Amino acid sequence: MHVLLIEDDALVAAGIRSGLLVHDFVVDVATSIAEARAMFDGVTSDAVILDRGLPDGDGLDLLADWRTAGHEVPVLVLTARDAVSDRVQGLQEGADDYLSKPFDLDELVARLQALIRRSAGRARPLIEHGPLCLDSVTREVTLSGHPVSLSRRELVLLEAFLQSPRSILSSERLKDSLYGLSEEVESNALNVHIHHLRRKLGTGIVETVRGLGYRLGDADAMAAKKAVR
Ligand code: CA
Repeated sequence: MHVLLIEDDALVAAGIRSGLLVHDFVVDVATSIAEARAMFDGVTSDAVILDRGLPDGDGLDLLADWRTAGHEVPVLVLTARDAVSDRVQGLQEGADDYLSKPFDLDELVARLQALIRRSAGRARPLIEHGPLCLDSVTREVTLSGHPVSLSRRELVLLEAFLQSPRSILSSERLKDSLYGLSEEVESNALNVHIHHLRRKLGTGIVETVRGLGYRLGDADAMAAKKAVR
């Protein structure tokens, strides 16, 4: 899951970033509205954490622009202000949730996970697909009830597929889920991760859609095939 964190306080940003990394999020940090606009256009984010008090304006103005442009990415707004009117304004501008500083990091992570879950139309953290089950909170994966050990990248990749089960995801989109903007990515890295997923979960887990990208395999077909171990 890729998160764009827009926060100008370096200390707060570093704290949030390290808290999210523990939970397998890929995090890019923007420190101004201008930087956030550029990053948002260059990468597909699964969620945004938005501070209000930014050096070049109020984060809510950026949010209002995104909503006007039709961007539906889940947005959690952070603010030092704790007045009811500020919270109401944030929600009216299109925020999906709201946290007042200082906040508890665990609460931030839990709220973010809930936002992403709801944006995918799920009420529970458990994602099931045929014989496959991923608990997006505990990060446990089982296949036909048996635990499967996946690397962090494999898990993040699997989650990206499960999050959009009917969509064709381009290589670019998948790389955005896996890597931050500043990370060096080897050209065949995505292929390697997909190869590992197929080896561990069965070849039917990911379909190649020639010229377009990849798609989560059909759940029924997966149930019929056995993973090669
Ligand atoms: Ca600030």
